[in-house]
Amino acid sequence: MKKKIISLLLVSTMFATMLTGCESKKQDEGSQVTENVVEYDYYQDLNIIDDNYRNFYEIFVYSFYDSDGDCIGDLQGVIEKLDYVEYMGFNGIWFMPIMPSPSYHKYDVTDYYAIDEAYGTMEDFEKLVEECHNRGINVVIDFVINHSSSEHPWFVQACDYLKTLEVGQEPDLSVCPYVDYYHFTKEQKNNTYYQVAGTEWYYEGAFWSGMPDFNLQNEGLRKEIEDIAKFWIDKGVDGFRMDAVKHFDAGADVNNATLNWLYTACKQWNPDFYMVSEVWEPMVTFSKYYGSQTPSVFNFDAGQETGMLFKAAKGYMSATQFVDELLGYDKTFSSYNPDYIDALFLTNHDMGRVAEACVNNEKNMKMAAGLMMMMNGNPFVYYGEEIGMNSTSDMDENKRLPMYWSDVVRAGVTDGPPNCNLSIESSFEAVDEQLKDGYSLLNYYRHAIRLRNENPEIARGEIAKVEALCNEHHAVMTKTYEDSTIAIAINNTDEEVHISLENTEIMEMAIRGYLTLQGEEITLKDGVLVMPAKSICILK
Ligand code: CA
Repeated sequence: MKKKIISLLLVSTMFATMLTGCESKKQDEGSQVTENVVEYDYYQDLNIIDDNYRNFYEIFVYSFYDSDGDCIGDLQGVIEKLDYVEYMGFNGIWFMPIMPSPSYHKYDVTDYYAIDEAYGTMEDFEKLVEECHNRGINVVIDFVINHSSSEHPWFVQACDYLKTLEVGQEPDLSVCPYVDYYHFTKEQKNNTYYQVAGTEWYYEGAFWSGMPDFNLQNEGLRKEIEDIAKFWIDKGVDGFRMDAVKHFDAGADVNNATLNWLYTACKQWNPDFYMVSEVWEPMVTFSKYYGSQTPSVFNFDAGQETGMLFKAAKGYMSATQFVDELLGYDKTFSSYNPDYIDALFLTNHDMGRVAEACVNNEKNMKMAAGLMMMMNGNPFVYYGEEIGMNSTSDMDENKRLPMYWSDVVRAGVTDGPPNCNLSIESSFEAVDEQLKDGYSLLNYYRHAIRLRNENPEIARGEIAKVEALCNEHHAVMTKTYEDSTIAIAINNTDEEVHISLENTEIMEMAIRGYLTLQGEEITLKDGVLVMPAKSICILK
């Protein structure tokens, strides 16, 4: 594999201060750092379509990049790293919650119309959206409406009102409508119900007492949520990531109606609005949520450590079985919503990282990413996975560690969540070093995303199996999108495979791009495709 090294000047956003800790950081904003980055001479032209099929990067702002020296990541820090995000090929970002919250993770909101002051200001957010859109990057924000913070004024006022009632007295919703915004009862139905101190009333908090569950059937609350949605859409937000959807109410049918109500409302303000829902359940359950007719539901069958992608990457599942899984996803999801867009991930902020799942086996880590990037739909890459950051699954905080930018340039590096274990070491180099190594995990991700950006068939195409070329050693599928067909050949074994294309429907095709572990070449000579261990080839 031929490659050439070129230089890219990253302007004014990286600081060359060499200090060891955030506390003692002194930023030298005048300095510039020249990074060597890698270009490949077999790149095809980009063919990026401006629709809702995108390559997403999931950013936890708190741990990403700090712009003002308080060791907490912020929106201005994200702006300073958008060149990096764009360089990787991402054209969408999912921001974990950014609204004011008493917690570091901010999944308990106290004000749905503002930016948490640790992250910056509304002006910063407006600038961030503008800078993203200038780069063709769509902005998706976490929309947390299963619950609010127990410190949200609605909940505080509801509790204050209930405390004024006599024993046995029923609340008057014309006096305090917020009582019906939540699930208050006089019966402690189970251990997710918490008592309102000094009253006979309990409230539901499915996650914990600090997150009272909303009553999403209340019309007044729905009007408030519509106003909030419109507020953010007016700010330029392109989509919502819907948190904790399975907890909205009991069952997919009622929750689908809730999703459909909000999505329909959002589409009147932006006809291209995107929505992706978290339903952390097995396939049989999460797939039902495509019945909401919203675009995307996270694929918890393909993702997470026990998921299909890791099995295929590690070789526990053949490439042919992998293709069969993709056909199965399409059949199932499209039966609920023919316009579905699969939402793919290897990990997210709630689970151990890829390095932990693969015990730092770089080959398997690359293959997991490569296989995901060959799937239809939208991949969501959790920040730091592209450099193989590590985690320990003991605490959520240790899945959300500071982005590992550099060993020498400390500016911008955050302290991470409270009580996180900063001694968890990565087995892989930091961003600045991986940028310079053409065969790094980072450059594997970048190359894989590049293939998606060159070939719109990968995300959008109709899949067909090339049966004659599918066996226990390798598999070939075609993807057809708008009269253009590509083939994707996969070898997920640890051995080289030779695939004869003769007398198949793809025999006239040529190599268009490929992914190999360490830059090994894939060749096509005399109708025989030679693929090294754990490699993927695009033909057209
Ligand atoms: Ca900061």
